[in-house]
Amino acid sequence: MYTRALAKGEDEGKLHRLRGGLAPSQKNKDKGGKMRKEGEEVLGILQTIGASIIEGHFVLASGEHTDRYINKDDIYRDPWKASLVGKEIASRFRQEEIDVVVGPAIAGVILAQWVAYHYDVSKWLEHQPRTLAAYAEEKNKKRVFCRGYKKVIPGKNVLIVDDVLASGGTVRGLIKAVKKLGGKIVGVAVIVNRGKITAKSLGVPKLVALVNIPMKSFPKKKCPPCKEGIPINTEFGRGKDLLAK
Ligand SMILES: [Zn+2]
Repeated sequence: MYTRALAKGEDEGKLHRLRGGLAPSQKNKDKGGKMRKEGEEVLGILQTIGASIIEGHFVLASGEHTDRYINKDDIYRDPWKASLVGKEIASRFRQEEIDVVVGPAIAGVILAQWVAYHYDVSKWLEHQPRTLAAYAEEKNKKRVFCRGYKKVIPGKNVLIVDDVLASGGTVRGLIKAVKKLGGKIVGVAVIVNRGKITAKSLGVPKLVALVNIPMKSFPKKKCPPCKEGIPINTEFGRGKDLLAK
């Protein structure tokens, strides 16, 4: 069971600690300490992202080229960082009802897990059943739910998460896949919006970006690094897949 009734003499804090979170009373006590520290850490992580911008010649998931790439892997290597980012996103959707958090495979799998976990913890008593996490894989340039994940979407309130929003192609693919299965999209959340994408342009009620770092991207024919003959980076982005074709 997600929430069980409190046994006699058991306090809410104990039950909450069993679930790995801070009880409301603890939260208040730690307002000036732990909570603020976490806020500072999230800020630090976002600054790390800002500092992790690599210059060169990259191919984005959309197929567009760019001369600047955000190395988001700095976050996923460290579960503590991934957790804090997930918690921050979850806190922005505290007022919404979310049944399932969906991300794009591969990195979105990690993010969806952490967001669902922290959303659940933040609504620990009044909210049940538990919020689930699911992911959509890329097959024939489409996003599809496989491995039984499609069962958790129909009729449910879905939050879509991704790390970097550039052209919005990946997120649009997810929106389409969720709608196809009869899921109701509550919103989209990303760590970085680099493409000036808006909720309106995605056709969703709410878009949250923890940080906005506008960056240019170009169709291959109009790509300045291509014109300069700079080799495509194969370590970051989709350059390796492109060159393998
Ligand atoms: Zn190029």
